[in-house]
Amino acid sequence: MDDFYCKEVITGNLKVEIIFETSLVMAFHHTKPYFENHVVIIPKAHIDSLSSYPNSPELNHDLMGAIKAVTTMFEEKFGGCRISSNIGNYQSTKHLHFYVHQGRRLRAENGEPIVK
Ligand SMILES: [Zn+2]
Repeated sequence: MDDFYCKEVITGNLKVEIIFETSLVMAFHHTKPYFENHVVIIPKAHIDSLSSYPNSPELNHDLMGAIKAVTTMFEEKFGGCRISSNIGNYQSTKHLHFYVHQGRRLRAENGEPIVK
């Protein structure tokens, strides 16, 4: 696939700061964060979104493991966080991804920096 995650992140073309990884999933710091602390969790195999998520116990295991590891880290460091995933026309990148974030918003939905 030619989306950002398949083309740049999973291939290693773009260097990202990985914080959790298995053979099926990876979690890394957002390269252009929208929040003070912003982590992205993706499956390494291409999946469009949750609405086309496969029936895979192995992927469920690794994905929930990644979510638990990242959200636990956020809770320990910052007291809590939010996790979200967009579907359909809410998605700018058509590869399933979860955002885990905390803190002040740095950029608007359209990517424009928020100047205080
Ligand atoms: Zn993809």
